[in-house]
Amino acid sequence: VSTWSAVPAGPPDPILGITEAFKADKDPRKINLGVGAYRDENGKPYVLNAVKKAEEKIAAAKLDKEYLGITGLASFTQNAARLAYGVDSEPLKQNAIAVAQSISGTGALRIGGAFIARHYPHAKVIYLPTPTWGNHMPLFKDSGLEVRRYRYFDSKTVGLDFAGMKEDLKNAPEGAVILLHACAHNPTGIDPTQEQWKELSDLVAEKKLFPFFDMAYQGFASGSTTRDAFAVRHFVAQGHDIALCQSFAKNMGLYGERVGAFSLTTRSEEEKKRVESQIKIIIRPMYSNPPLHGAHIANNILSDPELYQEWEGEVKGMADRIINMRERLYNLLTHELKTPGEWGHIKSQIGMFSFTGLKTEQCKALAEKAHIYMTMDGRISMAGLNGSNIEYFAQSVDAAVR
Ligand code: PMP
Repeated sequence: VSTWSAVPAGPPDPILGITEAFKADKDPRKINLGVGAYRDENGKPYVLNAVKKAEEKIAAAKLDKEYLGITGLASFTQNAARLAYGVDSEPLKQNAIAVAQSISGTGALRIGGAFIARHYPHAKVIYLPTPTWGNHMPLFKDSGLEVRRYRYFDSKTVGLDFAGMKEDLKNAPEGAVILLHACAHNPTGIDPTQEQWKELSDLVAEKKLFPFFDMAYQGFASGSTTRDAFAVRHFVAQGHDIALCQSFAKNMGLYGERVGAFSLTTRSEEEKKRVESQIKIIIRPMYSNPPLHGAHIANNILSDPELYQEWEGEVKGMADRIINMRERLYNLLTHELKTPGEWGHIKSQIGMFSFTGLKTEQCKALAEKAHIYMTMDGRISMAGLNGSNIEYFAQSVDAAVR
């Protein structure tokens, strides 16, 4: 009998399974709306010009391939922190933010989970919104935290269940950790308004909760990196200690390069040093130190004013294309096809995804009859739509709901 004979087959990853089914489909009209990666107007992956130019600069500089330190490229982590917290951030000015380069957003979340599990002085319980990104639950469980949920999405209004959210946070035990999507909530595309964020900040203070931000889409939601950082900056300005996970997968299109950052705000430079020493102790036995190339790309973009400007324009271009697709889809369904149902949420949601409100049966029918692939919760990646396929998509949705 072999060593692994008792290992049971695990279920396939739900999102990667969709890509498999899409690849196997031979119909020329097929559309993949499952995967959360940006596609250009021709449906192709998009390498940003700012990234190409940064790579040219890197090649010309003939850098060596020596290891980075445990917490990564120092100029990159400083620039990443400036991007998220803003140059006027008090803890940043006081050199009181501990930052480590991470294996994109997922790696940042995992460092954060491990840090909470090891050093957080209160209940090691994290509250996640319902629904949330599918990887949050296994990730925090594997980090050793107890996972609980708070209400977030209201299926009746296809909007935010703000009253339910507040009630659940009020009932959380004092000191509980609260995971917040900083902008462009995945999978719903529904964010609190700025007024609601202010209320949440007050509630978090009152209940002494610990805000743990996942910011995977800075710039991608509204087209402005500043506007998308509102929640993070407001919480910090209100005096909260926060954890923050940044990803450069979407906003720089660096998906496979795995560029991200994990940070904790502290109260002094001395405290930051202690915290940072423990972040290193978590990272060292996991992977020693992070990869070099992507961090150099992001760092070049963040530190060169010309490249930075070009990048901001390109982020806005991606966000605007998605916003434009939302408008067109809404108009097609509501005005042209007069599809039964209320579709206003398609326009009001933001970021890469839209929670369409389509039921599992309708999603299945779209895959089987129309060769359109999405997750069974009705989430579509807006970036998968373009001028060539949006009409076919709208007609297929129309047929599926009638
Ligand atoms: N958090 C959320 C909410 C996400 O949607 C994603 C990407 N799908 C991530 C984190 C992490 O992605 P990555 O590890 O590719 O940066």
